[in-house]
Amino acid sequence: MKVIKTVSELQKIAFKHLKNGDEIGLVPTMGALHQGHESLILKSKKNDDVTIVSIFVNPAQFGPNEDYLKYPRPTTKDLQLCKKNHVDYVFMPTLNEMFPNNHKTFVEVPDLQNIMCGKFRPTHFRGVATVVVKLLNISYACNAYFGMKDFQQFKLIETIVKDLNFKTKVISCPIVREKSGLAISSRNLYLSTQEKEISSKISKILKEALRDFKNKNLSYLKKTTVNKLNKIPHIKIDYVDIVNFKDLSFADKDTKKAVLAVAVWIGKTRLIDNIIMTK
Ligand code: AMP
Repeated sequence: MKVIKTVSELQKIAFKHLKNGDEIGLVPTMGALHQGHESLILKSKKNDDVTIVSIFVNPAQFGPNEDYLKYPRPTTKDLQLCKKNHVDYVFMPTLNEMFPNNHKTFVEVPDLQNIMCGKFRPTHFRGVATVVVKLLNISYACNAYFGMKDFQQFKLIETIVKDLNFKTKVISCPIVREKSGLAISSRNLYLSTQEKEISSKISKILKEALRDFKNKNLSYLKKTTVNKLNKIPHIKIDYVDIVNFKDLSFADKDTKKAVLAVAVWIGKTRLIDNIIMTK
């Protein structure tokens, strides 16, 4: 496994692989790797000749009062997880390597970046979009892997790749959960034991909504979900939305495949989760 720190080195190596006819897989992450990330890596290992994991805590996707500085950066542990899974290359650029002072270009998808999480994190998705487009160009990825945990992010990247004619295939991976049902996240490290225990109720409430999707109307489903979530101690809801799987527009009675997505605060930690509901 080779750790690469510069854009030029990764481009050189990736281009060589491309010329050799190798299929390159990219798993973009912000590190603090866990079983969720590992599932993406394993999928790439299965599909691709070469697996590149990028680890970059991207300041462009954090708001001014968010947790950029305190975001966990357990580099040694992350590299161990990559090595254990036979990752070929880990790309760990510095901030200046990715965003030198003269960086001026940002990628935006207004229709998708200002709804749901974007309402509460107005600059988040342009930061995500910009860094992912850069990573695709640097890695020459044939396949790029994204978790459904960040469903809105997955849709954003899928849209960019389609609209801008990238050759990369965007591959979705299911949400990996703890035994309790809690969606695994690097930010779960912020939760106290008690907060972790109560957070596991979120996925149970989503599962109950899934059970009701076929028989109950959407406003009932949303209202009951909000009411149940509000009973969790120390919770503050950012949003509960039911959207069309295809394009994130609001779902209606004709929607066959919807996503119930929530973002909540448990104490000082923001958690997101979602469930796909099909009729
Ligand atoms: P992050 O490091 O949080 O930016 O996540 C990097 C990638 O891992 C994103 O595509 C996430 O959606 C994915 N991911 C994070 N947590 C999970 C999880 N619990 N299950 C599946 N994918 C995940």
